[in-house]
Amino acid sequence: MGGQKHVVVVGAGPGGLTAAMILAHRGLRVSVFEAAATVGGRNAAMRLGPYCFDVGPTFLMLSGILDEVFHEAGAAMGSLLEMRRLDPMYRLYYPDRQMDISSDAERMKQEIARCFPGREHHYDAFFKRESLRFKRLFPCLQKSYHRLSTMFSPDLLRALPHLALGRSLFDVMFGRFGDADLALSFTFQSKYLGMSPWACPGLFSIIPYIEHAYGILHPQGGLSRISEVMADVARQNGAELHLGTAVKQVVVRQGRAVGVQLADGTVLEGDDVVINADFGYAATQLFAPGTLRKYTPARVAAKKYSCSTFMLYLGLDRLFELPHHAVVFARDYRANIKAVFDGQATTPDISFYVRNASRTDPSLAPAGHSALYVLTPVANLRGVVDWSSAAGAFREVVLDALEQRLGLKGLRGHIVAERVVTPLDWQDEFRVYAGATFNLAHNLGQMIYLRPRNKFEDVDHCYLVGGGTHPGSGLPTIYESGRIAANLIARAHGLSFISGNLEV
Ligand SMILES: Cc1cc2nc3c(=O)[nH]c(=O)nc-3n(C[C@H](O)[C@H](O)[C@H](O)COP(=O)(O)OP(=O)(O)OC[C@H]3O[C@@H](n4cnc5c(N)ncnc54)[C@H](O)[C@@H]3O)c2cc1C
Repeated sequence: MGGQKHVVVVGAGPGGLTAAMILAHRGLRVSVFEAAATVGGRNAAMRLGPYCFDVGPTFLMLSGILDEVFHEAGAAMGSLLEMRRLDPMYRLYYPDRQMDISSDAERMKQEIARCFPGREHHYDAFFKRESLRFKRLFPCLQKSYHRLSTMFSPDLLRALPHLALGRSLFDVMFGRFGDADLALSFTFQSKYLGMSPWACPGLFSIIPYIEHAYGILHPQGGLSRISEVMADVARQNGAELHLGTAVKQVVVRQGRAVGVQLADGTVLEGDDVVINADFGYAATQLFAPGTLRKYTPARVAAKKYSCSTFMLYLGLDRLFELPHHAVVFARDYRANIKAVFDGQATTPDISFYVRNASRTDPSLAPAGHSALYVLTPVANLRGVVDWSSAAGAFREVVLDALEQRLGLKGLRGHIVAERVVTPLDWQDEFRVYAGATFNLAHNLGQMIYLRPRNKFEDVDHCYLVGGGTHPGSGLPTIYESGRIAANLIARAHGLSFISGNLEV
């Protein structure tokens, strides 16, 4: 089509797919190049024989954003994905008690009264105060900060008193509930950002609030179904998806992205390039040396990064009595967190998370079998552990912990399919910088205007999407990054559009 602008997207993860399906719907020519054989990136499916796992994300929050994103791509989420609200959302395993966390306020208060008698009356105050913080802060996360002037928008100024400056997530929640153990159930969510509750900025109290206010969802077929359905919508809108096709370099001429060079040497021209590859990896690997001025390799290395994760995906030939989501706190939780974030050697006293989704969703494992996903936060590759030799022993530590803390006796004898993913695999196979699975850390110095922007500062006609960019890691914010980039591109080409995203 004469005059049709061409957008090249590097990576078919959640951020790239969002931008692709919206831009194709707005009439642009869109070509997506994905290095892996399947779509989804860290949000892809992993199939081991008859067992189906999600590689990364295991639940969806704020599904309204995904709904809007589909709508803006001309599709209806409700007819494409079957969402199931989980209640209880998850079970917490303290060393001395278990607590079910519900998004039903009355049930939640009863559970607090059972596990932490006398503290239940703090719940309403938590809900009320965090609701205000959420209302003020979330719209700020939905904007683009490609100009300094956006830092002085009325919304951002109104949000300032809600930033909890100088206080960590743990400080804020301990202040709300007055009990350190109870506060853990409202602070462990910092792990969703790969951060410690004691280092994560207090403003992220909006994450437990979002869970309690809106609940968490399981799409039937797994979270990876979202990526697959997004890819279908993108294709129906006319986008071309090239799987198993790695981009070697973004071609930059006179400071402007003009296309990409593929691993086989082919060059494809484009008017704009959208990069969904992990930011740290892209900045250090996808540009010719000397191209980037702000994000030089030394400056990228100097940034703060999230922790990593050690993953076990286990196909089991039996069912175990386990909830859909189980979060297990180390006996000495604080020492465990310190070891992870100081990059120390692993210890047997681990915190971990288990997802037993086949209990809710029979499509994930044969009848009578289960597909267990086990995530253990560990230091990223800047820590002391050499994962090329440590993986086997750490697998045993995790299996022991599953047996001892969750009562999965005889587990080893029921494993019939298995995959291990270590921080090294995140780096080498999934192309994640330093194996930091949740990207750049979310400290205040790496957020909003100070996070890699959706309109890339270093190269014209180049846009960044995904968890390492503004607004941040986590599916809803990643979808926003794709939508912000799509809106910026559409506006730059003079296309008219309607978007639920407040402003670009
Ligand atoms: C273990 C884990 C659990 C998580 N759990 C949750 C959760 O429960 N809920 C939630 O909301 N979020 C969760 N997240 C965070 C986040 O939602 C996911 O990591 C998400 O998949 C990140 O999306 P993305 O768009 O940033 O990039 P990615 O998913 O990493 O996609 C980037 C894509 O770019 C491709 N690529 C890279 N380099 C090239 C190249 N040179 N050429 C072509 N293609 C390339 C990659 O192959 C990949 O497909 C989790 C993350 C992890 C790792």
